[in-house]
Amino acid sequence: MPKLQLQYLTDELNKLREQKLYQKLRILEGEQLPVSRFDGREVINLSSNNYLGLTTHPKLRARAIEAIEAYGVGSGAVRTICGTMSIHMALEERIAKFKQVEASVVFQSGFAANAGTVAAILTKDDVIVSDELNHASIIDGCRLSRAEIKVSPHKDVDACEKILKELAPRSCRKLLITDGVFSMEGDIAPLPALVELAEKYGCMMMIDDAHASGVLGRNGRGTVDHYNLHGRVDIQVGTLSKAIGALGGYVCTTRDVVDFLYHRARPFLFSTSHPPSVAATCIAAFEVLEDEPQLIGRLWSNTRFFKEGLKKLGFNTGMSETPITPIMVGDAALAHQFSRELFSAGLLALGIGYPTVPVGKARLRTIVTATHTEAELSHALQIFETVGKKLKII
Ligand SMILES: *Cc1c(COP(=O)(O)O)cnc(C)c1O
Repeated sequence: MPKLQLQYLTDELNKLREQKLYQKLRILEGEQLPVSRFDGREVINLSSNNYLGLTTHPKLRARAIEAIEAYGVGSGAVRTICGTMSIHMALEERIAKFKQVEASVVFQSGFAANAGTVAAILTKDDVIVSDELNHASIIDGCRLSRAEIKVSPHKDVDACEKILKELAPRSCRKLLITDGVFSMEGDIAPLPALVELAEKYGCMMMIDDAHASGVLGRNGRGTVDHYNLHGRVDIQVGTLSKAIGALGGYVCTTRDVVDFLYHRARPFLFSTSHPPSVAATCIAAFEVLEDEPQLIGRLWSNTRFFKEGLKKLGFNTGMSETPITPIMVGDAALAHQFSRELFSAGLLALGIGYPTVPVGKARLRTIVTATHTEAELSHALQIFETVGKKLKII
């Protein structure tokens, strides 16, 4: 019997069911692969963030097992008590070297890295200028900081400058913050122009490169490298959960800012550090980025092939410039129906609706990986054509 006090939540769920917005979790049976088994059905998997196929890379798997043998399965404490193992320090040094910055600090997730950092470095007397499509973890970090939040229209550099001009007379600290690659649109931030604005108006500049890590820039060094802006972005966040294939987030910045975060970032202070096997996996992943650049080459050639195929069929793929390719549908119930019928036909592409994207902008979100074959992608395009025509989306 549910408690009476909780009944309103059941009512909310029933409302979602009535609106056809109720979503069951898809259960992955086995490994995260280009063709995987979900809910008992073998499907072409176009929904993971496993850009380079590293979730099952033999080298990463072997390193994780070695680390379990050598160090056990858990760290036993938060970093600031006695949960900082030498392998955590080795990972932070590896990331800093890879990203060509002074220092880095690893968090339990990209979400924790963003929310923990923004909340730690600003106060209620400060102002944040944030792109309207920034990730939820940035939004939550901004709210937790209690700073004033100015939301700027998506990628609109002129609007951003207007906000900064108005703020110019105020002596408060200012932070300009953007996703490097936007997670639901797949477009890239106008970073060179934003960096110039930050320099002109004396703002801190922070970028969330979750979807650019392992995807953009030399060997996947991210958007700062892609635009050759080394030394001009104060704080770069990345994730270890997407292209890197494991779990975690990191902040790349100066030694002193890292030291400050060791003292003030709440997820770092109050939540246990990674199991040593995860740190070992991530170190191996950065080696793979440097030793196997052909994986990133394949990711991009697959991206071009698939995107062109969708466009030829007449789908609207929005503003995407990266492997994240939305297929715009509009109505959320239709997007979910599209997703369900694709699944029955052998393809996993999830529907995304409110609150992840604005009302009326529902879509399917697809991501190809380096490890899909062209035959698999051609088959996926055929399925999209059949189901898309049936539902009159094309
Ligand atoms: C996924 C994502 C995150 C969170 O990363 P996790 O490591 O999964 O917590 C942060 N920012 C953006 C833009 C993301 O897409």
